[in-house]
Amino acid sequence: MKVYIFSAHPYEIPFLQKASGEKHELFFTDKKLSVTTAELAHGNDAVAIFTADDASSPVLEMLHAQGIRCVSLRSAGFDHVDLSVAKKLGVRVGNVPAYSPYSIAEHAAALLLALNRRLIQGRRLIDSRDFRLDDLVGFDIHGKTVGIIGTGTIGRAFINIMLGFGANVIAFDPIHNETVIAMGVSYVSQDELFRLSDIISIHCPLNEKTRQLISRPQLEKMKKGAIIINTSRGGVVNTTDLLDALESSRLGGACLDVYEKEKSLFFEDHRSNPVIDPLFDRLVANKNVILTGHQAFLTIEALTGIAETTIKNLDHWAKGERSANEL
Ligand code: NAD
Repeated sequence: MKVYIFSAHPYEIPFLQKASGEKHELFFTDKKLSVTTAELAHGNDAVAIFTADDASSPVLEMLHAQGIRCVSLRSAGFDHVDLSVAKKLGVRVGNVPAYSPYSIAEHAAALLLALNRRLIQGRRLIDSRDFRLDDLVGFDIHGKTVGIIGTGTIGRAFINIMLGFGANVIAFDPIHNETVIAMGVSYVSQDELFRLSDIISIHCPLNEKTRQLISRPQLEKMKKGAIIINTSRGGVVNTTDLLDALESSRLGGACLDVYEKEKSLFFEDHRSNPVIDPLFDRLVANKNVILTGHQAFLTIEALTGIAETTIKNLDHWAKGERSANEL
């Protein structure tokens, strides 16, 4: 198959080339898929896209008009794709449902430790040869209550890490998983989770039920000083409400790998064309926020898994077969 790969970055291209070998002809662009770039894919059989690409209805219609019948997502999340329109058009869409959940879970733990143990401030002090410790006091995770929203693949990997620290883990998920219960985790209501947790980590997908799941009413129920970790999707958290809770010291901290309006910011170099986003500036200015630019998946193992499944989906479609990862 001829495959046009949008949002291709140097860190992933070798993994995709290795997974494809001679099977497919891959064409790479660092441009994001949108109504203005969709025509770049002309002459190809398929496109491969990432989370910042736009596969909304008009874009899918443009791809379809150019003869493209397959969209391979290099992500687990598919909230950027209009699946009902794809279905209507007969465009196959497949995702990478699982790839090293440890990459994301370990990054969530890294963010938590970095914020709680003030690693970035500590490093800055060392750089300036100031060895005072007064602003660097954290707390033990051991013995704390950690609430998990979404006990799927990544949520379970994060639960294991937290149990390793000696935390008491509770969870909310509309589906109760026996493996999670066997790990000693209790499922509780959303309200109980907000009320009881010292640390809350979000691992649910973004959909109509979870959009803005964490807004003012939920933040008001949380323990004073609680820490929120979001490595799922930015849209699950209302950033303005989160900042209000942080700035009023109701919330102790936020560890974020994703941001509501990340599409116009992340994955690109904006040093010479700064994006004006006062909400983002407020986040960055808050000393109780640690923020990374959607990099939780960035491990060798995850990139290998993403590339292999992306290509496997294309292998099936090239043979006219259905892929098990079709959405
Ligand atoms: P998964 O499908 O294995 O698990 C998701 C879980 O969320 C399921 O158990 C589901 O029942 C639960 N859920 C659904 N609605 C819910 C709700 N309203 N409240 C609580 N739980 C709910 O998915 P996963 O592989 O664990 O990934 C979780 C999310 O992580 C993905 O949807 C994606 O958005 C995000 N993600 C982020 C990165 C990153 O780099 N930051 C990488 C991969 C995935």
